[in-house]
Amino acid sequence: THFGFKDVPEEEKEYMVKNVFSSVAKKYDQMNDAMSLGIHRVWKNQFVTALNPGNSTTPMRILDVAGGTGDIAFRLLDHATQKNQDYNSKVVVADINPDMLAVGKRRAKKTPYFESRRVDFIEQNAEVLDKIPDNSIDIFTIAFGIRNCTHIDKVLEQAYRVLKPGGVFSCLEFSKVYPPLLAEMYRQYSFKFLPLLGTLIAGDRESYQYLVESIERFPDADTFAKMIERAGFTLAGERGYECLTFGVAAIHTGVKL
Ligand code: SAM
Repeated sequence: THFGFKDVPEEEKEYMVKNVFSSVAKKYDQMNDAMSLGIHRVWKNQFVTALNPGNSTTPMRILDVAGGTGDIAFRLLDHATQKNQDYNSKVVVADINPDMLAVGKRRAKKTPYFESRRVDFIEQNAEVLDKIPDNSIDIFTIAFGIRNCTHIDKVLEQAYRVLKPGGVFSCLEFSKVYPPLLAEMYRQYSFKFLPLLGTLIAGDRESYQYLVESIERFPDADTFAKMIERAGFTLAGERGYECLTFGVAAIHTGVKL
């Protein structure tokens, strides 16, 4: 069977995305390492360092959307604690998939943050976020999550709603590779090698085929920056984003003024 999304009606997409992540939940972190040759760790560290959580006099409320297995949440709390001696800021991980959340909760129990109640996991659709009040969040993060959402504009609208004035939206996501020759090499790598790796490591070719296609479909960095601006945010820096590793990924940042 072909697991492409191209011919899938919109209302089925959310259900299919759920299935993809249920099927990869247990192998998720291992697959990330294999697929990105470990580079996703460098990107995630860069993402968290740029946000510098815990650098304020009052404890922060951070929302990590599509937070899955808690990878970003633990990094945010490690940074706040170790770099800024902030022992009070909290992270809420919101994800649509209970299987990913279950892996995250299990991992949280091995960190000091579970005991100190600095991390919490809630099942939420990024496009809805009805458990999160207006103007309640200092930092909104979403890493490798927004391209899986059916309506990117709804996610941005929710981000704007839940952030406090002065709050920061930051998104780490795959982007478009440049220059063209490199883009073609990357295309070959991702279309041939990634589904093969999916088969070898997770026994699941189709889920990884989906991941590759979702990366292809996601807008380029400038287009995505414009969408963030349209949602009401003021873009950080000149263009609102920073490219990582020849544009394989990008960090977009906007402030709710
Ligand atoms: N942020 C984590 C990381 O960087 O390792 C996980 C990223 S994983 C590729 C994508 C996550 O997005 C999955 O856990 C999936 O369940 C979640 N997701 C997909 N669609 C979603 C939606 N509409 N709302 C919330 N989470 C969603």
